[in-house]
Amino acid sequence: MTPDMRDIKIINGKVLTFKGRKPLRGTDMGSIEVLKGVPVCIEDGRIVSIDKDEKAREVIDAHGKIVMPGFIDPHTHLIFAGSREREFGLRLSGKSYMEIRESDGGILSTVRATREASSEELIFLARKRLDYALSWGTTTIEVKSGYGLSLKDESKILKVIKRLSETHPITIVPTFLGAHDFPPEIRREEYIELIISELIPKVSREGLARFCDVFCEEGVYTEEESERILNEGKKFGLAPKIHADELKSSGGCEVGIRVGATSCDHLIYISEREIELMTKSDTIAVLLPGTSFFLSLKDKPPVRKMIQMEIPVAIGSDFNPGSSPILSMPIIIGLACLTYGMTPQKAIVAATINAAYATGEKERGSIEEGKWADIIILNVDDYRKIPYWFGYNPVEVVIKEGKRLDRKG
Ligand SMILES: [Zn+2]
Repeated sequence: MTPDMRDIKIINGKVLTFKGRKPLRGTDMGSIEVLKGVPVCIEDGRIVSIDKDEKAREVIDAHGKIVMPGFIDPHTHLIFAGSREREFGLRLSGKSYMEIRESDGGILSTVRATREASSEELIFLARKRLDYALSWGTTTIEVKSGYGLSLKDESKILKVIKRLSETHPITIVPTFLGAHDFPPEIRREEYIELIISELIPKVSREGLARFCDVFCEEGVYTEEESERILNEGKKFGLAPKIHADELKSSGGCEVGIRVGATSCDHLIYISEREIELMTKSDTIAVLLPGTSFFLSLKDKPPVRKMIQMEIPVAIGSDFNPGSSPILSMPIIIGLACLTYGMTPQKAIVAATINAAYATGEKERGSIEEGKWADIIILNVDDYRKIPYWFGYNPVEVVIKEGKRLDRKG
């Protein structure tokens, strides 16, 4: 039975829609359709009708502006304390990554600060970041642990993520990334044993994560170690993800395909063979142009080729204090266009529907009947203005699961 009154009706917008209920590949990634002036009705948090003129308690007049799905950020390291501007200065004065690491900088300085912070401090810091992301139109975000590197501190971070997901309007998808690096105080083999025999079972038992992720890279986790950890995670119901081929061709993408990863992320140095393998798989390629930009990396992933080969591509912020302190998805869309050579259409698809599949949030990421009403209204009349007005925040209205929020969340 259709109720007489819907909760919300959005009128007079330019509504962006995409093809189908699946991750988009190849030319379909460019298949944005703009429906001019069609009403979108929302009831009980869901989109109930498109292009049907129903009555509603609240009518939002979009005045010819873009109405589109909220952004989905499929890759962040949101929970940390401390900040690394000192290191940023050192890097720009010519110090190498290893010199910075040896001068007390790098990821282990973030691990130290995060271990020292209380749960309340981490929540305080992360909530401000979530509010900021929401103000730029992010309505779903994947958040990784990984700056604890001990039983106590990884659990602390994952519990912080859980508390935030219960109290913040953004949908948070939690990922266990105990295998982000190695802690300085114990031997490598001991830490891997800890991940396998204690952390993964605990994370699973307490429902603290949906995904298990590994940083597979020379000097961090080897292919064999990554595969072992991800397979162990799978046994405990944690779906695999992997940081792969970021600094060198690490073979990590191949590991990801072998274990059936939901996504392989970074992929700057993806090999021909890995492209072939990805084409035949359901794994999403999550590209992180903010990191390439912030680290001034010269090499880029072969994005055009990947799309041509029909690999479903998503983009994310990789928000973290060392290599991408960028949390705005409109800026990431701009960087995907300007530095990775993606078209505005493909970058938008990568930041919405394809990112939904990279996070396992299939009921989000597009404006379709039955999906969650995660909708943003932008102060632009053409979606190409999202990357074109680079650095401008076009987000005017955020609707999260049918609730209208102001820009500060
Ligand atoms: Zn990352």
